[in-house]
Amino acid sequence: MAISLRMAKPGWFIAFAFIVLLWGHADVAAQQSAVEQIDAIYVQSEHDNAQALSRLLELGQSFDTRTPYVVRREFLKVSTFLEIDAGNVKDAARSTAQLKFLAKEQNDVSGLALATALEGGLLVQDGKSSAALAKLVELEPVAVKDADVEVLWHLYFFLGKAQLAVGRFEPALESLLKCLQFSEQQKKHPKIERLKALNRLSHVYIAMKNWDKSLDVIREALVLAKEIDSQKMLATLYLNQGVVYSSQARLDDSVTANNQALKIARQSGFTGIEATLLLNTGDIYLRNHSYTLAERWSRQALVKNKEAGDQVGVAIAHGNIGIALMGQGKIAEGVAQARAGIKISHDNEATSDEEDQLAELGRMYEQAGMYREAVATIREQQQLSDQLFRVARERAVASLQEQFDAAQRQKQIELLARENSLKDAEIRNHSLQQIVSLLATLVAIMAGAFLFLMYRRVRHTNQRLVEVNQQLEFHSVRDPLTGLYNRRSFLELMKRRPSASVGERREDLLEFPDGLMILDIDHFKPINDSLGHAVGDAVLVEVARRLRATVRDSDMVMRWGGEEFLVFSPKTNASQLKGLAERLLHAVGEKPVVVGSQTIPVTVTGGFLSLPFSGLTEVECSWEKAMQIADLALYLGKVHGRNRAYGLTRLLAPFAQAMPVLEHDLAAALQANLVELIEVVGPTPSVNLASPTHI
Ligand code: GH3
Ligand code: MG
Ligand code: MG
Repeated sequence: MAISLRMAKPGWFIAFAFIVLLWGHADVAAQQSAVEQIDAIYVQSEHDNAQALSRLLELGQSFDTRTPYVVRREFLKVSTFLEIDAGNVKDAARSTAQLKFLAKEQNDVSGLALATALEGGLLVQDGKSSAALAKLVELEPVAVKDADVEVLWHLYFFLGKAQLAVGRFEPALESLLKCLQFSEQQKKHPKIERLKALNRLSHVYIAMKNWDKSLDVIREALVLAKEIDSQKMLATLYLNQGVVYSSQARLDDSVTANNQALKIARQSGFTGIEATLLLNTGDIYLRNHSYTLAERWSRQALVKNKEAGDQVGVAIAHGNIGIALMGQGKIAEGVAQARAGIKISHDNEATSDEEDQLAELGRMYEQAGMYREAVATIREQQQLSDQLFRVARERAVASLQEQFDAAQRQKQIELLARENSLKDAEIRNHSLQQIVSLLATLVAIMAGAFLFLMYRRVRHTNQRLVEVNQQLEFHSVRDPLTGLYNRRSFLELMKRRPSASVGERREDLLEFPDGLMILDIDHFKPINDSLGHAVGDAVLVEVARRLRATVRDSDMVMRWGGEEFLVFSPKTNASQLKGLAERLLHAVGEKPVVVGSQTIPVTVTGGFLSLPFSGLTEVECSWEKAMQIADLALYLGKVHGRNRAYGLTRLLAPFAQAMPVLEHDLAAALQANLVELIEVVGPTPSVNLASPTHI
């Protein structure tokens, strides 16, 4: 009995373990096959979305409480996409909400991030681009830290879409390039994901009106779409091609591309794509001034877009119907439609759509001879445009302003140079000033006109703005990184500086000499070495900004070399110069520079003196020689612990005795008491760490 019992026990246990093992295998196998089925459905949706969706829903019916989370997660993700493409935004939102709930329950960080990315995508789809942007921007650091490639792909895919929707083209490009990168690393459907990213990229180029680039991207994507036989993407890409052709006024090509797309979309039940295509066809006829046709297509588009739940599409359809009606002379009816569209865009914060629609309405008013209304509408549009491009424009203005400043400063310098010799000819001088101010006004008017032209050009094309800025930079005398004057501009200034060995100007210079100060960032190389060159660059920019903010308007701050700066301060006596050195050391060193998450304490060491130095003539001590001596003073500051400036005030011995030593060995000159030296000490490090300057 006892024996049989002992036998029975392990026997039963082994059998149980075996069953569990088998069961477990069966579970894993079932789980794997469910995930595989979902994958296959996802691939199928590229050809036939409706069929794929019904298969997916059928599969969902077979789920019960034992269905593992991994399977549900895949199911809900894919169903979100398929529902969106089928135009069932509400159902898509429901799937995403379920996914979020489950991911939370399972403590699945990556799943939660995925759900959040999908939520962002749905918000953009629903026309709530700003909300989408906020959500996705918040998600980015979390996803980058914790999530996998799949989540990152979704994040950048939708982020790019949201950025595009609010008119931030360059960031959108950046996001989509990242998305492309992550497509390559995808385990499951790298080609489909690449296609989707390429498609979106073509949207950005279209928005930037970069037709060539968009056609290139579309061409590449079409090859890939044919290779994997993705009907959805073929339809979408032909749609995009239609848009480009119609923008290039290639109307026949555009209709052909649109019809190709429409055929595929209808065959495969892509409601969303069909809705957009109807809109575009209406738009093409509008461009062709075929208003009756345009109205017919746009009304179809309105119905389809409502069906697909696409708010942006509904708004555009209204707008297009409005324009078509106005084109047929039905003004009041048309305006009501256009306004209905504009209101929907406005409520959905689709700013760039709203702007386009306003512009269109303005044009229609104009064609109808209703100029007052046209002007009012254009003004409305301009306000929006201002909003949308304020940042870009500020950059353009700043660049032009700098150019203008440089031109004016040059004139001031020339004026100063002539002042002395023209003192006895006041009238002539006066008329010269008039000419100069006339010239300055002319420059201002020309800059204004140029500015106006620039405004027009920078709209929608940040890229072109960058090119224009580069051109401006090239023509100016400024250092491209910091925007400060460069070494060449100082050499130019010194070349034009009138010699003043004798006469009134010399008297003047002796009383009000020019201050010369060299500053060099302390321990800059370690910043580059430990935090990277880009951070080093950011530090240079901030130090330049601080220096510039500290000096007078008439002072010049230059980037002398890598991390060396030169300050030229005209008409500054010795004690003012010392004060300036103090202010500059504090401006740089008082608060650390913050670059991203890095807080970097930065100080400078300087050497300074007046020009003419110690009453010497330019023959005795040229500006080049003075610079050399200031450099030696700087070097002395480095040796004595940095974060300080040494100024040389005057020679204490006759020129012939002092100068030969001073020129080459400042320490020896000091020891022999040949020259007077003053010291200015910088701020104690890490003062006021609480409020650093952010870049
Ligand atoms: P010290 O306190 O003695 O001045 O030490 P330092 O490290 O500041 O001086 P050093 O002359 O050894 O190094 C200057 C570094 O500045 C070396 C060079 O790579 C870097 N540099 C020069 N131009 C640039 C630039 O445009 N950007 C960046 N990021 N670094 C630059
Ligand atoms: Mg240096
Ligand atoms: Mg240095």
